[in-house]
Amino acid sequence: MYPAEIKEYHRPDSINQVFEIMAHHDEGESLLLAGGQSSMQAIKSRMLRPQCIIDLQNLQELKTVKVESGTLKIGAMVRYCELAKNSALDKNFTGLKDAATHVGDRQVRNRGTIGGSVCWNYAAACTPTAVLALDGRMHLVSSKGDSRVVKADDFFLGPLDTAKSESDILICVSFEQPETKAGSAYKKWGLVKDALPVVGICAFIKLDTSGLCCEARIAVTGMGLGAQRATAGEAALLSSDGDPKSIEAAIDGICATIDAPTDLSATSDYRYQLIRNLGFEVIQIAFKRASI
Ligand SMILES: Cc1cc2nc3c(=O)[nH]c(=O)nc-3n(C[C@H](O)[C@H](O)[C@H](O)COP(=O)(O)OP(=O)(O)OC[C@H]3O[C@@H](n4cnc5c(N)ncnc54)[C@H](O)[C@@H]3O)c2cc1C
Repeated sequence: MYPAEIKEYHRPDSINQVFEIMAHHDEGESLLLAGGQSSMQAIKSRMLRPQCIIDLQNLQELKTVKVESGTLKIGAMVRYCELAKNSALDKNFTGLKDAATHVGDRQVRNRGTIGGSVCWNYAAACTPTAVLALDGRMHLVSSKGDSRVVKADDFFLGPLDTAKSESDILICVSFEQPETKAGSAYKKWGLVKDALPVVGICAFIKLDTSGLCCEARIAVTGMGLGAQRATAGEAALLSSDGDPKSIEAAIDGICATIDAPTDLSATSDYRYQLIRNLGFEVIQIAFKRASI
């Protein structure tokens, strides 16, 4: 398939230059290009018809991973392959590392970025699910000059829909280091290994000083709605030490409240079974990682 005509291609060196280029175009006419793993397909199929492509590859400030005053900040242009091996994620944010390690194939992981993934928020995407479970924050600056931080709960609005506006650039995704022990895990199952999941699930568990769960966040993907919280499952884990009965109760809560559809990839029953199996595993692993 051939894209519609693209009149301009730019590779700016600073965010100010990005905004200068954007200012020459009406809203929606220019497209920010990160790894191109979703946008190039959308351009080829003419779902997107940008007049101007602004390639973010030269923006070094979007390519760093740093910990600042207890907050992990991952630049929007950090690629999956870099996330998969970054030790800054090891202690509390292994769920994100799990997700990045199994996104697509090696080529996709070498090009695709955390920023592109959360901004695209595909119906079955892995990374937004991990960002949601880990209570990530999206740092946005707008061409109008204002900057804002949006919590994942408010950012992911539905498939291919987020709180980011056409005039926003995502600078980084941040995560607060928990003050007590915490652990997380993500697993998925797809028709093809390491491709988009039929079901993906991420759990984040925080323990109090007695080793009991004081906070749980669970998010699922693959239901056709993008990343979504499974709050009913979370409540069942509070004050537990991750015993099988509590985890079963959490899974029952997830299955009772999440709508698992039948489509060409799987039946609804099959999806519920995947939620049960994968859900049990990730919650158990998250508890184990938190206890170390
Ligand atoms: C073969 C294949 C298999 C895949 N398998 C999986 C999988 O298993 N799991 C999974 O989760 N995903 C999968 N994907 C999708 C992949 O994760 C994409 O890389 C990701 O969705 C987009 O990231 P990107 O960096 O390539 O962004 P791009 O495609 O370049 O951009 C995506 C969107 O985000 C916007 N954007 C990008 N960066 C910014 C920014 N800093 N500020 C504002 N807007 C921005 C762009 O304008 C565009 O609208 C797969 C893709 C392919 C091709």
